Amino acid sequence: MIKDFVSNATILIASFTVMGQIFKNMPLSPSSPHSSKLYWGICYGVLGNILMVFSFQINSTTIADLRHLAIVVAAAFGGGVPAIIASIIIALGRLTLFGITDTAFVAAISALLTGIVCGWFSKLNIKLTLKAFSMNIIGLFFISIVFAIYIEDSKTLLNVLMLHYLISLIGGFFAFHLSVYIVNTNAAERELNLSLLKLQESEQKLHKANELLSELSYMDGLTGIGNRRHFDEILNKEWTSLISIQSPLTLLMFDIDFFKKYNDTYGHPAGDQCLQTISSAINNLVANNPYSTFCRYGGEEFALILSKTKLDKAIDIAKLLQKKIQSLNIEHRNSEISDIVTISIGIATIIPNSEVQPKDLIHLADTSLYTSKTNGRNTISTL
Ligand code: GH3
Ligand code: MG
Ligand code: MG
Repeated sequence: MIKDFVSNATILIASFTVMGQIFKNMPLSPSSPHSSKLYWGICYGVLGNILMVFSFQINSTTIADLRHLAIVVAAAFGGGVPAIIASIIIALGRLTLFGITDTAFVAAISALLTGIVCGWFSKLNIKLTLKAFSMNIIGLFFISIVFAIYIEDSKTLLNVLMLHYLISLIGGFFAFHLSVYIVNTNAAERELNLSLLKLQESEQKLHKANELLSELSYMDGLTGIGNRRHFDEILNKEWTSLISIQSPLTLLMFDIDFFKKYNDTYGHPAGDQCLQTISSAINNLVANNPYSTFCRYGGEEFALILSKTKLDKAIDIAKLLQKKIQSLNIEHRNSEISDIVTISIGIATIIPNSEVQPKDLIHLADTSLYTSKTNGRNTISTL
């Protein structure tokens, strides 16, 4: 008999472990959704039936096992709903697994009563350990009634009851504490997963923010095109890569003519607007040229880096730029050379080599631009 009780207790404990793993992300508590309570209730009910299958016969109609512990644990952790579902399944199992007899009927009612009373008892606001212990006693009480009715020999009855109480209390103790352990472990794991997920989200956000920050640090705030830092970086990069293939690097710089007068005439905000219009138009114009990088060099001065581009091609591009500015037709009534905004362009080309540096190319382009200014503005000069 002891062997059977112990195997019953082992099944109970092993099943709790497996159920804890299966329903890791569906914790059972009085506030769980109904679906969770239903699944857990069914599982505890099935467990009760498994325990019954591994029960042992006391006499021709009476069997003993730890099925009530499945109801007790269901009630202790999930309240009335899973306890009653489990007790209904156990009652049905008791009626169908071993034939419909008087004993089966009384045992089924005993299981149902255990479910109902434990379900009600679970609502009491007492310590969980005390609650589970009391519910174990409630289950044992109903079982004792069944045994008292059907075990005629008082010595056998006493033996069965003593053994049943002993194993139930020991099994219940382990089953309860194992369940608490599983519940806590699963909760900690869920929390850990949640924290990991949050950490991943934060990392992604940080990564995006860093990307944006890096983008912004290379972008001119007013016009949205590359800034001076971007210009320096690209010019150096192109310079290095073109040294090895000995291909020309051309720099086109342009400056708005009489822009101070423009500001004085139309106001600084209008000047800003003019810079935005011009930079956006030129940016669109060169957007399809994979060898070009357009930046704001500073103030009302812009730079177009043209890698692998010879001087004649750069002059064609400069003419297009001038035409584009003209087509914008931005009024500039106080310009000394036109009644619309115009630009002066300077171009310089170098095949990069170790004897010169990028700053020399800038100097040459700047000198060209100065030539355009001194030659009357709205013109293109080259070096
Ligand atoms: P030049 O034809 O010789 O280039 O004459 P300029 O008046 O254009 O040249 P100058 O260097 O005397 O003046 C440049 C003006 O550009 C002065 C400055 O206020 C203006 N400027 C520079 N940056 C900005 C800006 O971001 N917004 C506005 N509205 N004006 C700017
Ligand atoms: Mg100017
Ligand atoms: Mg200037």
